[in-house]
Order: sequence, then C-alpha cells, then structure tokens
Amino acid sequence: MADLRLPTNTIVRPDKDRFLNEENPFEAMMSRFDRAAELLDLEPGIYKVLRSAEKEITVSIPVMMDNGEVEVFTGIRVLHNTSRGPAKGGIRFDMNVSLDEVKALAAWMTWKCAVVNIPFGGAKGGVICDPLKMSVGELERVTRRYTAGIIATLGPDSDVPAPDVNTNERVMAWLMDTYSMHVGHTVNAVTTGKPVEMGGSLGRREATGRGVMLTTLQALDHLKMEVKGATVAVQGFGNVGSIGAQLLAEQGCKVIAISDRTGGWHNPKGIDVLDAMAHVRKHKTLEGYGKGEAISNEALLELEVDVLVPAALENVITTKNAKNVKAKIICEGANGPTTANADTILDEKGIFVIPDILANAGGVTVSYFEWVQNRGGYYWDEQTVNDRLKNIMVSSFRDVLKLSQQHKVNMRTAAYMVAISRVATVHRLRGIYA
Ligand code: NAD
Repeated sequence: MADLRLPTNTIVRPDKDRFLNEENPFEAMMSRFDRAAELLDLEPGIYKVLRSAEKEITVSIPVMMDNGEVEVFTGIRVLHNTSRGPAKGGIRFDMNVSLDEVKALAAWMTWKCAVVNIPFGGAKGGVICDPLKMSVGELERVTRRYTAGIIATLGPDSDVPAPDVNTNERVMAWLMDTYSMHVGHTVNAVTTGKPVEMGGSLGRREATGRGVMLTTLQALDHLKMEVKGATVAVQGFGNVGSIGAQLLAEQGCKVIAISDRTGGWHNPKGIDVLDAMAHVRKHKTLEGYGKGEAISNEALLELEVDVLVPAALENVITTKNAKNVKAKIICEGANGPTTANADTILDEKGIFVIPDILANAGGVTVSYFEWVQNRGGYYWDEQTVNDRLKNIMVSSFRDVLKLSQQHKVNMRTAAYMVAISRVATVHRLRGIYA
C-alpha cells in the first residue's frame, strides 16, 4: 500500500522547556497535544495542520437594546478541524470570551469527539457580552444576529453548535429558528441541546453525569476497587456534579462531600444526594444545607477519598495543591480542572486521572445521538439512549486504557494519542487538496 504519510519538512515546535502559564487554556491544551504528537511521532505536515484552526470568524453584532440605543457586540466562531465530520461545539455568552480561548476550546472539541469516535470535528463560539445584565429580548436579538452573522458556516453537514457557558435550550431554539427562517424550512439538526419538544434527545440532560459515572466504574474495576462503599467527593453541584453524584450513589458509592459556589458539606457517613438536589431545587444553591460539616472548596479537593470529581471550574488542581490531593481516582467532570503542570505531580503520586476529554464526553455523545435522531426523523426512548451511551463510554475508556498500558503513559496522554491518531489517519487518507 502507498505510503500515505505527508511529505516531511522541518518541524517547528514551541519551546518545550518553557514554563507554562498554567491557567492559559491554549497553552494547557497545546502542551498536551505536543506531548502526544511527539509520542505518536506525528509527521510535521500533519502536526502543522492539526495545530491550526481551519476557520476563524469574527462578526460584529449590532443590537437594539431595550433603552433604544444600539450596542455592538463581538461574536466569534472557530472551526478547528472538520476532517472527520461536521464541526461540533458550544456557544458561550461571556465577558471573558476571546479568540485565543475559543481557538483552544475548538481544538479541545476535535479531540473530545475523536476520543469517543463520533463522526464530528471540533468548533467553539462565543459572544463577548454580560448575559446577566441583559433582558430576555436583548439576549434573543444578540442570538439571532450572531446566528445570521455566522450563517455561512452553520448547517447539519458543516457546523452544529450546542449550549455552553450562559447559553441554554432557549438560546438553541432561537438559533435553530433563525437558521430555519434563512433557509426556508425547519432544520432541527443545525444545533443540539434543544428542548425535547423540538427535537432534543431524551437523556441529554443527564448524559455528562452518566458518562462520569460510567467512566468512574471502569476505573474502579481496573484498579480492582469495590464500587460498593467507594467514597466520593464532588466539587460543583450543577448539571454534571449533581447527576454524576446521584448516579454514583445509585451504583452503591458513598458520596461524602459535595460543594458549589457557596461552599461545601462533608459527612463521612454519606450524603443523601437526592435530598441535597431537592435542597438546590428549592434554594438554588447548597447554602444552608447543613447535613454535615461545612467544608471549603479547597479542602474538599484534599479529602481522603477513593474518587474525586471536580465538576465545577477549570484550573482547580494546580502545582499549589496537587501534592495534597489524596484521592485514588480523579474523574474530570469539568473541562480543564487540572493544569498541565499539576499532571506531573498527580502522576508521581500514582493517582489515576480520567481526563476531561474522555470523562465528560457523555454530553457530546448524546448530542451526536440528537443529531442522528433529527436527521433520521425517528426518536429513541431514554433506555436506548442510555444503552448506546454506555457502549460508547465503556469502549472509549478501554481504547484509552489499552494505549496507556501499551505506551506506559497516563490516561490523559493516551486519550490525546487516541484522538490525534484518529484525526491524523483521516488526514492521511484524504490527502491534501490542492
Ligand atoms: P452548572 O452551571 O450546571 O454547574 C456548575 C456548578 O459549579 C454549580 O453548582 C456552581 O455553583 C458550581 N461552581 C461555580 N463556581 C464555583 C466555585 N468557584 N467553586 C465551587 N463550585 C463552583 O454547570 P455544568 O453544566 O454542571 O458544568 C460544569 C463543568 O462541566 C464545566 O466545566 C463545563 O464546561 C463542564 N462540562 C459540562 C457539560 C454538560 O453537558 N453540562 C459537558 C462537558 C463538560
């Protein structure tokens, strides 16, 4: 068979020994990418292709505000790589959105989709705005004008957004409606994370937490640890953290600590997760929950537990606290909870980390199911969604574990290696169009 590797030329890699800015998402992602690329002996041509984004779009979004004045916002959409299929990735509304961050997050989506082997590439988008200071009408107008601004890239075959920070089902409904009005007919597969009534998938809301539970069970099994009674601490009690905790408790684990932005609760006898979820439904946060000792978010990360699930924010396990982490397994529900420099410390301590691009890929997997159902016009029951999600999460975990054993690398590097080699293979097969 012909050698499909691209011709090689000089490879220019950034200075590996430079100390990383721990909290820069682009550097964090790229340092892991570089390590995996080196271990895979990735040829320079493909390395250069995968290091750059395919398309970066910046649009200005003029919006008539409720006070009658026109405000102009900036919107971004980045498609990192579409070699394996349409670009997939969320849209966030936040004052901290920047092109650099969106580029890093778009590449992250390429690797996440590839690690669970769903036929999507990676994208991300955002609008620089403060949604908490905007009315529903203003948010709708921003969403519709942003959608119109990036409409040339959108489409079920090209670019399929989803909710992210400060966007939700309602924003996706406006996006889908705007796109459909432009093309002249209803296209619900243009976005995922929609309300179930208009083509959203059953099981999507629980999917990321379910993936956290499924990958944690795989890790416990691999380490020959008992599921029943395994102690768990969960940081973040929102969609991912609360559902992950509830599903782990259903499996027999003992959740002994939970937290949110108001602080945490620790009870060595075990926390009734459903009861804590009911408290949050009633009071919005865990503040005043009271069934246990109060514990800070920082102390929760250092508890002596079998499983730690950071499911709130990025950069919470750093070079400052990694040496104090005592968990045997870390299941990264959040995106980027561990800095690249902290990885080394966790490795030295022998902590088994299920990396974010694998651990929290349940959400994008069921987004893929949503897109498949929309395109087929045939909807699955929740059990079917959950069974298919389980198949994908379990086989992806096994693929990554196998490579980590073969190459004697940690699970994060192995996950990047699995993902990068899948994307690189497609590039080799497709060749370079000239
Ligand atoms: P969410 O908004 O539903 O919940 C976030 C939780 O984190 C809340 O309980 C909040 O109080 C808590 N939190 C916020 N600031 C905190 C702080 N400083 N200290 C401790 N807790 C704090 O969000 P989510 O959807 O559960 O997402 C959580 C993480 O998981 C994010 O990193 C997100 O990117 C990632 N993620 C989510 C999904 C998904 O499908 N929802 C998929 C993949 C990754």
